[in-house]
Amino acid sequence: MLKGIGVSDGIGIGNALLIEEHSLEYTPKAVENTEAEINRFNEAVDTFCKNTKKQAEALKASAGEKEAEIMIGHISIVKDPYLLGEIEKLISKGQCAESAFESMCDTFISIFSSTDDEVTKQRAADVRDVKAEVLKILLGINDVKISKAPKKTILVAKELTPSMTAEINKENIVGIVTETGSNTSHSAILAKVLEIPAVMSVPGVMEQIKNGDTVIVDGNKGDVLSSPDKAQLESYTARSKQLLQERRELEKFRGKITVSGDGERFELVCNIGKPEDAAQALEFDGEGVGLFRTEFLFMDKTSVPSEEEQFKEYKKAALILKGKPLIIRTLDIGGDKDIPYLGLAKEENPFMGFRAIRYCLKNRELFKLQLRAILRASAFGNISIMFPLITCVEELRESKALVEEIKSELRSEKIDFDENIKTGIMVETAAAGVIADVLAKESDFFSIGTNDLTGYTMACDRGNSDVSYLYSALQPSVLRMIKRTIACGKKNNIPVGMCGEAAADPMMIPLLISFGLSEFSVSAPSVLKVRKCISNWSKQKADEVAEKVMSLDTKQDIYEYLKTVI
Ligand code: PEP
Ligand code: MG
Repeated sequence: MLKGIGVSDGIGIGNALLIEEHSLEYTPKAVENTEAEINRFNEAVDTFCKNTKKQAEALKASAGEKEAEIMIGHISIVKDPYLLGEIEKLISKGQCAESAFESMCDTFISIFSSTDDEVTKQRAADVRDVKAEVLKILLGINDVKISKAPKKTILVAKELTPSMTAEINKENIVGIVTETGSNTSHSAILAKVLEIPAVMSVPGVMEQIKNGDTVIVDGNKGDVLSSPDKAQLESYTARSKQLLQERRELEKFRGKITVSGDGERFELVCNIGKPEDAAQALEFDGEGVGLFRTEFLFMDKTSVPSEEEQFKEYKKAALILKGKPLIIRTLDIGGDKDIPYLGLAKEENPFMGFRAIRYCLKNRELFKLQLRAILRASAFGNISIMFPLITCVEELRESKALVEEIKSELRSEKIDFDENIKTGIMVETAAAGVIADVLAKESDFFSIGTNDLTGYTMACDRGNSDVSYLYSALQPSVLRMIKRTIACGKKNNIPVGMCGEAAADPMMIPLLISFGLSEFSVSAPSVLKVRKCISNWSKQKADEVAEKVMSLDTKQDIYEYLKTVI
């Protein structure tokens, strides 16, 4: 059995289709009819542009505009007049199209890769992609057509690129296995959205699996079985049927409100990274958006998006949600999220360093730009503003003062905005949890970010496998932090939500109900599962479980006990 990271739930059983990288080797030859060679090259460019446009359209439909833009960018690379002119000159001197094109691409790649700037380096990767695609056309290499894959296909690839994802037909592709990628990689997020079981980061998978092999992909556990025996096939087929049945049963919860077994109402909303995801949130029956991670808008660009650009994006999300809640989190960069054009200095300890609200409060023009865009968009929907990484009340006060400053600017400019817009904070640092009583007095709402709160409470980097045994929201310390935060919010009559991954964990749900959480913000495909889970608990049953859990001393004891009750 091969082991990787399960990034998209479910079990897929089918036949392997290996997406192999072709050798692009050729022997350069001198050409005599240079005009015909130039024509051959131009035809290859046209074919490339046509293919790419098609892929971009497919990607736009399946994954959204942002992903499609990356592909359109590839067309502008190959249509660059300087590049085309130089290639023509080389062919006119007798070089074949392959070598003229390759040598010009290599020149660009080496210029782009020699800089320290990450965005320019990314351009080198784009040129490399374009070079490979155009060379394939010139050399007459036929790629495996993913769009033509037969039913029950398991895609096996070194990595899943956006152009490959664009070709996936959900009816035929029943599983994905890749050698690279992780839970938060772009391709993993797409696999989740497409609801195809996927396992990534499987070392040496291209050598271990052959075309046509029967393969089982267990996206829940991260297991991949190649050429399974009869007993394994039977047991996974049964499990797969059971999971499908469970998924079908979840449909009962579509269109319903989110209530516990004894009728208490909860809000069940989604985490999104771009405006188009708001539509997906609604498709999965989310009741709004509890966290819009705006840093992704900044990451996709080569310079700070203007107020107008940001305004359009926030307004788009607000309009899609038609009055349903939309909590927009202000820029949360630093730590593991770099935005190269902002020129953040390399830090010894980036998670403890100059990030999120700290960066924004020191770069006021950028912060004000974003706040103006959000406030303007608030005229078009039910928007709230959320500040990340708050550790002391001064940060909250300063941020709120800026919001007030911009509100009065907008008033004097006679620009509409929601006068009653709410401002809340992420409780995701140990400091914020400890002074939740103070912060609750000046916040309109809390949202608990357990992804960071766990790390900061346990003093434990979630990316470091040597300390991953400590990283769990079920740690008694983290549970106390959560309980306290909710209690402080309740005491001050403000709603408390959770937007960290723990909000969708069936083991956490009874505890959160008992502590008094009012809003669960989860990834869109988890909505129905969480709604069902909430419906299984009454307050009294949840209280009994929580009381027992809070009497236990270790994460392991808590885990073992919760396993017996869910
Ligand atoms: C969190 O820290 O729990 C959170 C939701 O924010 P992010 O994952 O974006 O850091
Ligand atoms: Mg966080």
